Amino acid sequence: MLVVMRHGATEEEIQQVVAAIEEMGYEARVLPGRQRTTVGVVGNDGRVDPSRIAGLSGVQECIPVTKPYKQVSREWRPQSTVIRLAGGVTVGAEDVVMMAGPCSVESEAQILEAAHAVREAGAAILRGGAFKPRSSPYSFQGLGKKGLELLARAREETGLLIVTEAMDPEGLDAVAEVADIVQIGARNMQNYSLLKKAGRCAKPVLLKRGLAATIQELLLSAEYILAEGNPQVILCERGVRSFDPATRNLFDVAAVAVVHGLSHLPIIADPSHGTGHRDMVIPMARAAVAAGADGLLVEVHPNPDRALSDGAQSLYPAQFAQLMGEVRLIAQAIGRRVAEPAPAREGIRA
Ligand code: PEP
Ligand code: MN
Repeated sequence: MLVVMRHGATEEEIQQVVAAIEEMGYEARVLPGRQRTTVGVVGNDGRVDPSRIAGLSGVQECIPVTKPYKQVSREWRPQSTVIRLAGGVTVGAEDVVMMAGPCSVESEAQILEAAHAVREAGAAILRGGAFKPRSSPYSFQGLGKKGLELLARAREETGLLIVTEAMDPEGLDAVAEVADIVQIGARNMQNYSLLKKAGRCAKPVLLKRGLAATIQELLLSAEYILAEGNPQVILCERGVRSFDPATRNLFDVAAVAVVHGLSHLPIIADPSHGTGHRDMVIPMARAAVAAGADGLLVEVHPNPDRALSDGAQSLYPAQFAQLMGEVRLIAQAIGRRVAEPAPAREGIRA
């Protein structure tokens, strides 16, 4: 951290800052300048809390120079993290992993139909919420445990892996029992007790960016999971709030490149929640893969017009099949390929 002193700060004020830094156990380096003096904090192996120093007399501002996160950073681990899932599917390596399915699990027929459709198009992972965090308490809240059972059934029938959301620490174990990847949704990105619990679980975690979260906040939330001992975190860009209602959220494609620079963790993109409109999902999905996303999370419903949640942004199965073809071409153009789904169980229609 650098402590910038006000123009005309007295020697006594500078020495007060030096004393405070030394009292905190660090070394202080006074750097006199033509306009003002700066005091550097040395010897810290993490971020220094500026609150003690910022209020001292003569201090203009405290500028952090060390990133507040550690284990998620590329400095900590230069090589990219590769997450290995059942059936040989990997996230964060060469493959672009397609995760697709309805917003919510609604019924046995609906989830099985969706699973077969996305499997046929070539997706490797089935998405679908059994526990749904809805903005309104009167909206469909998901089928709960029954939804988890139906997801397990869909995996058995199709061989697709499952990503599904855990909403609270109490419910996480039941979700982790069924899920191949436990999703933490945008509304829960800063639910620290849930993050800590996910950090103690043995399953990979898909952590979605919060509705108004900076990339630094997303990485700090991931740091909670790693700090508890779970290194298997996949980040997800899903758009942030903006002033413009033309799209549901502002889909931040640049976040993919930013995260790849700052962190070794894989990042996928969710153009469904990122745009909110089915017609915009395909172009934004293409853009995300071209930008280097390690996968996509796409809402697909066998009958979007009758969906109990997020129908307007859900692709028809035929649209998803078209998208898969395009993603294959884009992946190839940038030296990647689309992950193959794990083989379906013998004797079962894939
Ligand atoms: C979802 O994936 O259906 C979901 C609720 O997404 P988000 O948390 O990004 O809003
Ligand atoms: Mn949804």
